[in-house]
Amino acid sequence: MNKFAVAILTFFAAAALGAPAHATDRPPQFVAIAFDNCTELERWQELSDFAGELNKDADRIHFTFFVSGINYLSNDKRNLYEAPHQRRGASNINFGGSAEEVEKRIAFINDLHGRGHEIASHAVGHFDGRAWSAADWQKEFASYADLVDNAGRNNGLPESVKLAFPTSAVTGFRAPYLSTSPGLYAALRERGFRYDTSSTSEASLWPEKKDGLWRFNLADLKLHRSKRHTLSMDYNFFIVQAFGLDNSSTRVQHRDEMLETYIDYFKANYSGNRAPMNIGHHFFNYHGGAYNEALKAFARAVCGLPEVRCTTYAGLADFMDKLDPATLEAYRKGDFEHHAAPDIDISNAITRSKP
Ligand SMILES: [Zn+2]
Repeated sequence: MNKFAVAILTFFAAAALGAPAHATDRPPQFVAIAFDNCTELERWQELSDFAGELNKDADRIHFTFFVSGINYLSNDKRNLYEAPHQRRGASNINFGGSAEEVEKRIAFINDLHGRGHEIASHAVGHFDGRAWSAADWQKEFASYADLVDNAGRNNGLPESVKLAFPTSAVTGFRAPYLSTSPGLYAALRERGFRYDTSSTSEASLWPEKKDGLWRFNLADLKLHRSKRHTLSMDYNFFIVQAFGLDNSSTRVQHRDEMLETYIDYFKANYSGNRAPMNIGHHFFNYHGGAYNEALKAFARAVCGLPEVRCTTYAGLADFMDKLDPATLEAYRKGDFEHHAAPDIDISNAITRSKP
């Protein structure tokens, strides 16, 4: 039989079996929610409680925490750290407080890590590394490793006080100020990182692997019923909506606008090509906590819905690693049977999220 005849036969065989219009199954809708810096103990408590509540009878949500290394170092031990091109003991954000506070923070981190949340890196002293060489980044990462691996000893705490994981288990990164340099990527790869979240792109982009690292980019979003754009990060909403000024008279309006914008983002991706969602917040309660209320309302509304996975970035990287190139290409094109976005009761989510 010649090749042409085989092709014809294959075609009719497929038609007879009712072959699907698409060769690829619909992927889940990933929702990655992450936090940067991660200093304030009240917020560690609040997010531990929130995750516990959502996960009490099912696995609905896992966060990624991009923890700045200074959180593992008490104020009086600050001289153990020296950032590239800075004087010893300097940091752009506060150190970890008292040794007791560092110990409490480590306890929260170990507990959340044990429950499947991810602890990742936001470098150490929150310096702008856009001009740093690979060697500068290596120096910063070596400091980070010492702070993670020797947290008890560095702070004069008993050796029993330690993180439940070694530095080698910290494989995700977000650069302070999202400031990157070519040397960053060489250093990340050398350190065994799996992914970077320091870039931005359109909201429907499926992650790409560059220089051996998955790039999970923050999204460019259009504010709900507005022509203005922002990045999918609380600080950027704060600048675009409120010019960086906390104003009690606009908090509720801006909170609801963020929530509606996140729901728009969710619905577009869920019913579209299912590109993973990337949302970045801080422990600092910008705008009187309005944005963290919006984030919790969003998580309550979507995490746990069918085909939705609110996972860590490590979980997303696991999924991406298993995809063959043809499947990923089909996802990029949205070449699968689409599904309409579910109805979401926002009013209920907001009411329940009020403190
Ligand atoms: Zn930061």
